[in-house]
Amino acid sequence: MEIIILLVVVVVLLVAVPDIRRSLITRPAFAFFKRVLPPLSATEREAMQAGDTWWDADLFSGRPDWHKFHQTKAPRFTEEEQAFIDNQLETLLAMLDDFRIVQQDSDLPKKVWDYIRKEKFFAMIIGKEFGGLDFSPAANSHIVSRIASRSISAAVSVMVPNSLGPGELLTHYGTEDQKNYWLPRLADGTDIPCFALTGPEAGSDAGAIPDTGIICKGDFEGKEVVGIRLNWSKRYITLAPVATVLGLAFKLYDPDGLMGDKKDVGITCALIPTSHPGVEIGERHLPLNQAFMNGTTYGKDVFIPLDWIIGGKDYAGKGWRMLMECLSAGRGISLPALAAATGHVTERMTGAYAYVRQQFGMPIGLFEGVQAAMGKIGGTNYTLESMRRLTVTALCEGKSPSVITAMTKYHMTEMGRQVMDAAMDVHAGKGIQLGPRNYLGHGYMATPVSITVEGANILTRNLMIFGQGATRCHPYVLAEMEAASNPNEDEGLQQFDSLLLKHIGFAAGNFFGSLFMGLTGARFNASPMSGPTARYYQQLTRMSRALALTADMAMLVMGGDLKRREMLSARLGDVLSHLYMASAVLKRYEDDGRQSGDLPFVEYALEHHLYEIGQAFKGFFANFPSRIVAWTLRLAIFPLGIHFNKPSDANLQAVAKSMMEPGVTRDRHTFLCYWKNDAKDMTGHMELAFAAMREHADVYKRIRKAVKLGDIAEDLSGDELVKAARKADVITADEAKSLKKTEQLRMAAIGVDQFAPGIIEQRKFYS
Ligand SMILES: Cc1cc2nc3c(=O)[nH]c(=O)nc-3n(C[C@H](O)[C@H](O)[C@H](O)COP(=O)(O)OP(=O)(O)OC[C@H]3O[C@@H](n4cnc5c(N)ncnc54)[C@H](O)[C@@H]3O)c2cc1C
Repeated sequence: MEIIILLVVVVVLLVAVPDIRRSLITRPAFAFFKRVLPPLSATEREAMQAGDTWWDADLFSGRPDWHKFHQTKAPRFTEEEQAFIDNQLETLLAMLDDFRIVQQDSDLPKKVWDYIRKEKFFAMIIGKEFGGLDFSPAANSHIVSRIASRSISAAVSVMVPNSLGPGELLTHYGTEDQKNYWLPRLADGTDIPCFALTGPEAGSDAGAIPDTGIICKGDFEGKEVVGIRLNWSKRYITLAPVATVLGLAFKLYDPDGLMGDKKDVGITCALIPTSHPGVEIGERHLPLNQAFMNGTTYGKDVFIPLDWIIGGKDYAGKGWRMLMECLSAGRGISLPALAAATGHVTERMTGAYAYVRQQFGMPIGLFEGVQAAMGKIGGTNYTLESMRRLTVTALCEGKSPSVITAMTKYHMTEMGRQVMDAAMDVHAGKGIQLGPRNYLGHGYMATPVSITVEGANILTRNLMIFGQGATRCHPYVLAEMEAASNPNEDEGLQQFDSLLLKHIGFAAGNFFGSLFMGLTGARFNASPMSGPTARYYQQLTRMSRALALTADMAMLVMGGDLKRREMLSARLGDVLSHLYMASAVLKRYEDDGRQSGDLPFVEYALEHHLYEIGQAFKGFFANFPSRIVAWTLRLAIFPLGIHFNKPSDANLQAVAKSMMEPGVTRDRHTFLCYWKNDAKDMTGHMELAFAAMREHADVYKRIRKAVKLGDIAEDLSGDELVKAARKADVITADEAKSLKKTEQLRMAAIGVDQFAPGIIEQRKFYS
């Protein structure tokens, strides 16, 4: 008893008497914090500070406010956006023949280029005052996704000017003169932009670009002016081969002090017409055979005036910050849109094919092994679409959420790869043989492009999600880091002191909260919703608290080392990401009006995300260097063990069955998949066969029965089957007529393209 009283007195003294607290706790903690603080480079610091936090901060705090979350309204299209989607977008989609684009022309047809420019597909993010469309991120994402469901090459061509590049940079930082000159030209398609950051020596480590600009005097339009002498060598630049204006990132130096005192000015972005003397463009890469324009650009001792710097002289040296600030929006829209398209196409087409394709006398979608792959596609696509919508919602609210967009880019492109693999497995030969009827092959080939671009995925998962998340989303760490780096030591100590007390309270709350929730299975956690999803809210709140506790302990024990131990920190990033994805799924389920047909998909997604959270924690505890801390955390968070399971077999079967049912659920889940009502069309031929076969399900059932009874011969198809069924009086004359058409559609749907000798060798598929 005396000991407890003594402890209470000590704690009260420490909390209530600032001088004692500061000298006994804060000062040593401050020194420790400074020692373990991850050493940040200037570029890392700028990346860390760029952008906002949103729902990710709630999830990281251990106390997600679900009511606030559900108050966020899903964005709606304006009338103008809807009209564009219904008209211009549909017209463009009908013009795209991806087989021809990729395999024969290696380019979009001229009429498609012209249409894209004329209808301002390149100007979705340019303001109306400059002649642009000024569409919301929601419309931008929808449009790029629909195009990607038809042609990745066309989608990439459209998405790049609407992502990070000259349009975005000019809008945010351009001088009035620059905006007034360039934006109308970009909006009406007079100019085609590209943005060049990457080079042979600088890919992921883009801050290390060796391209230089030296401030010096030179000749411009017959006059001597102060300008920049540029040398660059860039590669992998999308649209570069056809660009008329080049956005260029380089390191600017001012050795003679012509602009100011600073000799090493820093990364700078400039806009240069590609017709300017010395600018070299035109060489093309061949990115996994896709036909979008991608290539190199070089320049040797190219002189440009200072006012070609984006934003003018004031923005010299601020290029990295500009890029980091603008990267979020594009990263949350473009590549995720491609992944969403993959999800919608694979769900719709795999559901159809699994019904149309029959082996061993029944649709392959009735075999459990195939259902496992189908369940994964349908369940994952539910998350893909949910995540796309939630991130776009944040962007539509004007946020620039850097951690959320990194999670979205990484996980959506990875999920896109997974559903594509599963769809290829189900389609087997039908997915492999390229031709106008193959709707998977080019998307499959292009998958690594999404994985690599706008932050290669390994780097994004291992460095960015947790690295930024821990500091940006943590309620105290960023402020503590700022206090620690305050050049005024006393002021820093004072700031740190008040933060530390709160932080200790926060950590203690997380520890005891986690233990309580672990022991009670989170059953006392409040849930904002009743019904089948209520338990998931309780478990997610519990896992959010567990993340807050583990992240704090990891940072305390490992300090700056955590940054280098990517395998460990990435697992905590995975927990945050799966919490985000699971909440996106719950939000969509509510926003869509709790559709009962969605439940198997929702259940798949939530079980999967909880399972992955459990696995991430398991891997983290197993590998954390301090075994005592690892075991303490494991016991506090999972005192009764880690019991999250993969989605059940019954769940996979329910999803697979739903994918083979025509109707509103299927249409709602796959609305981004374009298909043309034409039996020769890439996706249309499968869709029409599926619809016809579903309509004739009863007829086929009767025929199967007659075959079993021996009234109709086995292994008949097409006209022969129709004739035999009619002859055996199993079907009526009217049924025979429509079955004949259905059989034609079925044969076309299970068919693949074949080419006469010489056609493939000469790449002459079309005359
Ligand atoms: C089709 C295509 C289009 C592109 N378009 C453009 C464009 O328009 N403009 C432009 O400027 N650039 C463009 N890029 C460049 C693209 O952004 C880079 O390819 C990307 O940044 C990765 O660089 P890298 O390919 O050199 O890979 P590297 O940087 O060599 O990386 C190789 C691998 O190492 C991993 N890695 C690197 N560092 C770390 C780390 N610290 N921790 C963990 N993993 C790490 C990466 O994740 C990757 O998996 C394009 C690239 C492609 C392929």
